Amino acid sequence: MRLVLLGPPGAGKGTQASYLQERHGLLKLSTGDMLRSVVASDSDVGRTVNDFMRRGDLVPDEIVVQALSERLDQPDMKRGFVFDGFPRNVAQAQVLDKLLEDKALQLDAVVEMRVMDDILAERIAGRYSCAECSEGYHDVFKVPVDANMCDKCGSETFSRRSDDDVDIVKSRLGVYHRQTTPLIAYYKDRNLLRSVDGMAGIDDVAAQLDRIVECDH
Ligand code: AMP
Repeated sequence: MRLVLLGPPGAGKGTQASYLQERHGLLKLSTGDMLRSVVASDSDVGRTVNDFMRRGDLVPDEIVVQALSERLDQPDMKRGFVFDGFPRNVAQAQVLDKLLEDKALQLDAVVEMRVMDDILAERIAGRYSCAECSEGYHDVFKVPVDANMCDKCGSETFSRRSDDDVDIVKSRLGVYHRQTTPLIAYYKDRNLLRSVDGMAGIDDVAAQLDRIVECDH
């Protein structure tokens, strides 16, 4: 099964991609996570990537595609995957078509997670993750059982993303509407588009995704 999750920042793509990884064995591929690792590497390319990310802009396609195409060549990709945050514009979608075609692979579905803009800010403002294993949490919607300890790995260190700042989020949302929403028509034309109500609770959205995985497999 090969899936793309499409949706604005704060729609829950990362949370649900992790769910699909655990429940259905799909490999979660987050270009945001890949780019944050590039930034952490403290290289020239890392500094360039950081400049784009801290403005809320898309990182240039060639940098993202380079990181991703290397990953697609790894043998574990064979078990199926879910993209979180890629593609983010039509040019990236066309590159993805070509990369998959070269490997004689196809996407099974592209899932649009529909969430109204005015609730995204609240969702993003409350989110944080474990600094050790990256498990995602939220001040309101998903707190660890023991508030000071990660449920998954037991670490007591958490972090918040610097680009979850209110002004950067506004910019990221603008970028989503201008550059990413044309993908809805792109994949509708190819009969791949499915949609879920991303405003439902985490478990409800996961159940909607289960149905898509079961139908499209
Ligand atoms: P995310 O973790 O998906 O919210 O992405 C965080 C940031 O990483 C975005 O605001 C972009 O700056 C960058 N980014 C992630 N995925 C892509 C992509 N496919 N193309 C360009 N930039 C990306």
